[in-house]
Amino acid sequence: MSLSDELYRETILDHYHHPRNRGVIEKPSTLVEGVNPLCGDELTLYLQVEDSKIKDIKLTAKGCSINTASGSMMTDAVLGQSIAEAQKIIDSFKHMMLESREKDVSLPENMEELEALQGVKKYPVRIKCAILPWNTLTQAIKNVSANNSEKSTKVEMS
Ligand code: ZN
Repeated sequence: MSLSDELYRETILDHYHHPRNRGVIEKPSTLVEGVNPLCGDELTLYLQVEDSKIKDIKLTAKGCSINTASGSMMTDAVLGQSIAEAQKIIDSFKHMMLESREKDVSLPENMEELEALQGVKKYPVRIKCAILPWNTLTQAIKNVSANNSEKSTKVEMS
């Protein structure tokens, strides 16, 4: 195992054991449920948007280590960002996981920590565990943009 593999592993385990932004938002702009039946990952994402900025984001989740760590890192990466910036972060992460599977990718400085999840690319079945929170956030942003805030929605990985 190389030094970076070791660091990556520690980052993932830290987020798994101490997930950031856990909990619920009482009156969110929208909430979206996400499920990944392949692994049994389940989460609920609460999003609070004000003035086109992510004012608050919370997750409750019952998932594997990769799913939990990915969701935790995601909330850290997008909290306080504008919707446009959050969308860029989602796109960069998904590009790293889905389109650059053969090689390591460097992410912008504000999302360096997420590079820890690149090791997962070796295990195609686990990629869905890592992507689920991100697809759930994409749907939440769609709900807010479409002023669909009353509706709770569900994302399922297939
Ligand atoms: Zn999983």
